[in-house]
Amino acid sequence: MADEYKSFIKVPGGGEGQRCYYPVRLDPYGKGCGHNCSYCYARSLLEFRDLWRPQDPGVADVAKIRKLFEDVFDKGRRNKWSEVLLRRVPLRIGGMTDPLQPIELEERTTLELLRLLRDYRYPYLFLTKSALVGEEPYLSALDPGLAAVQISVTTLDDEKAARLEHGASRPSERLRAIRSLSQAGFFVTGRISPLIPNRRDGFYSEGGVESPDERSFPYFSFGLTDALCEAGSGSILVEFLRFLPFVHRWLAADAGDDLRWMLNERSFHHEGATHFSAEEKRAYFERIREVCLRRGVQFSVCDDANQESFRDLWTNPDDCCNALRNIPGFTRTYKQ
Ligand code: SF4
Repeated sequence: MADEYKSFIKVPGGGEGQRCYYPVRLDPYGKGCGHNCSYCYARSLLEFRDLWRPQDPGVADVAKIRKLFEDVFDKGRRNKWSEVLLRRVPLRIGGMTDPLQPIELEERTTLELLRLLRDYRYPYLFLTKSALVGEEPYLSALDPGLAAVQISVTTLDDEKAARLEHGASRPSERLRAIRSLSQAGFFVTGRISPLIPNRRDGFYSEGGVESPDERSFPYFSFGLTDALCEAGSGSILVEFLRFLPFVHRWLAADAGDDLRWMLNERSFHHEGATHFSAEEKRAYFERIREVCLRRGVQFSVCDDANQESFRDLWTNPDDCCNALRNIPGFTRTYKQ
């Protein structure tokens, strides 16, 4: 029997909790994710303490989540979360680990959670790399008036994705899921997260001039934006890779390249990770945004090191997740 994941609702501490517009996380699964991605930030945080269990993650007790909602909404009880819940601050489902990771097919915790949120007309972001999100019974449990669905796709190459996102659905399946949801009336965000750069820091911001010496990592391609738009995404959100020691090690093992060569004097450290320079990130963002503008698709950026400096690029300057004014149930962010 799976371990219980007791901290299923929380606001992360530190900079992330302060920066994020929707930091109240509700995770059906914790302490591991069967997708076990080579670049996973949560994995690197937990692996450090030998707490990452990809095949045996902790599972939240839905009865406890239900009790929390009943206490607050049906019985008028005050508790640690009542103020947030009564304000209907949207929850972030999948902020820690993927809510549709393989164990969901046995446990169905996420399915029950979605039905509970639908019953209470409660808004939420739903982040996943699983194509299950576009299939029954999830399609019916999700509600287009409440759910801001964000589906992450990092490459168009199914084979390369399988090497880095071991248990996740193939990118082609995730694109189909975006199509199914968009045809069912959902506002779907195609999330390029993480964007794993294909050139060294500075390459595009200095003009992108090819030379025989330039190395590349052919995983992300700019054509991914077109594919996400064509699949029916209403918005594209981009988040860059955070370079962490474990991530270098896992990428070396799974992709045969640790990507350390990409980092140089332009790159900088922030909260324990190395980041590409703001200029280089902007060069990627602007190129992707141009495609979005041409196709009438909205755009946004999630960036824990320079979030404010990219605000001019967001379609909705009040919301980096771009759910306000797109999802009826989203009437405020955590800060409002
Ligand atoms: S799907 Fe998300 S949470 Fe799961 S391993 Fe990959 S990056 Fe981590």
